[in-house]
Amino acid sequence: MTVPAGICKGVGVGGHICGGGYGPLSRRHGLVADHLYGVEVVTVDAAGRAALVLATKDGPHEDLWWAHTGGGGGNFGVVTRFLLRSADSDGSDPHLALPRPPANVLSTRVLFPITTEDSFVRLLGNYLAFFHQHSEPDDAYAGLYAPLSVRTTALGSTELLVLLDGDPREAHDRLKAFLAAITDGVFPPPLIEPLVRMSYFDAVERIYYPKAANSPRVKIKAAYLRRPYSAEQLRTCYRHMMDVSVIGESVLEFLPFGGAVNAVALGATAMPARDSFMQMLIHAAWRRPDGDEHFVTWARRFYAELYAETGGVPVPNERNGGSYINYPDPDLADPNWNTSGVPWHACYYGAQYQRLQRIKATWDPGTVFRHRLSVQP
Ligand SMILES: Cc1cc2nc3c(=O)[nH]c(=O)nc-3n(C[C@H](O)[C@H](O)[C@H](O)COP(=O)(O)OP(=O)(O)OC[C@H]3O[C@@H](n4cnc5c(N)ncnc54)[C@H](O)[C@@H]3O)c2cc1C
Repeated sequence: MTVPAGICKGVGVGGHICGGGYGPLSRRHGLVADHLYGVEVVTVDAAGRAALVLATKDGPHEDLWWAHTGGGGGNFGVVTRFLLRSADSDGSDPHLALPRPPANVLSTRVLFPITTEDSFVRLLGNYLAFFHQHSEPDDAYAGLYAPLSVRTTALGSTELLVLLDGDPREAHDRLKAFLAAITDGVFPPPLIEPLVRMSYFDAVERIYYPKAANSPRVKIKAAYLRRPYSAEQLRTCYRHMMDVSVIGESVLEFLPFGGAVNAVALGATAMPARDSFMQMLIHAAWRRPDGDEHFVTWARRFYAELYAETGGVPVPNERNGGSYINYPDPDLADPNWNTSGVPWHACYYGAQYQRLQRIKATWDPGTVFRHRLSVQP
């Protein structure tokens, strides 16, 4: 069994689960937080005394459990244990407590060479349209996770990594139809690596994000999409990714979302993103401290232009789904970069913020746990 978590090595569960936690199996099985039955937390009372508290979904302290299903780390206490069990398990059989990964995964990489603006717009437009059409919880493509990484100009290629549940008999046909939809009208045609079939464990272990020995400096700006980008936004992406001054490791990433994530009712957990189909990440990466200002400014301007219509940030509306607290971006709380008049917490929590504030006041009355984007009591 497994949890539908992220698979990047080096990420810890402490922050990951508290903020929701998604990965390649989330379109099929939801977030890790959707399988969180309880937490053991060290809290601090008004007198500064620490206590070990057990909070579970069905009580005791259901509110404290709820706060850990998307409220974000570093807010309510220190989690010392996560109790994981799916909603449809009564806990009597540990083998059935959590989802099973597919026995087989079909995997390939598709490499798109450097291209014209029109072809790029076509590719990204095809990609977003496909996942928008296939974001319902029981869609035939719920077993497909295919993140798209657009590299900056000099490295010249856009890469699509495909992980598809290979168990159904239709898997090959599905993969073919998906690739046909993504590449339709895209020129030059992509290079498609030979398809491999392997276990989910091997796929995660061998294919995806090996831990870098020496990580770059990074700035991440993220957003959920409820609708595909407009033609204007697609062209904004192209323009910023063709900026020769950020040649190197920076990428624009799209991570498929929705599916089973959207089957959970809003309010059942603290995670508010229950109607988006995609996450977007501007992932600026560089090596030397003297590059800080240049790369951070590039990411900020790119994001501000992408969300120019809503004050430079993805204010939740019919097109945008806000952002993810596990990609925390203090710029959302900075009036220089968020000119929408909408507070940062509306982007991360929507209307659920007020409940988080009440829980914060109860469990961390002295605001011992705080950071730049922590819940304010
Ligand atoms: C390379 C990379 C890849 C990623 N990929 C994904 C992905 O695929 N899917 C996804 O959902 N997210 C992804 N993330 C985001 C990830 O979920 C967050 O960075 C998460 O906060 C990491 O948790 P951590 O404990 O490692 O981080 P930390 O930086 O240690 O903690 C983050 C926050 O949580 C708090 N915290 C940590 N431990 C605890 C604890 N035990 N109790 C209470 N609070 C705690 C910290 O105080 C801090 O406020 C990725 C991040 C990176 C860097």
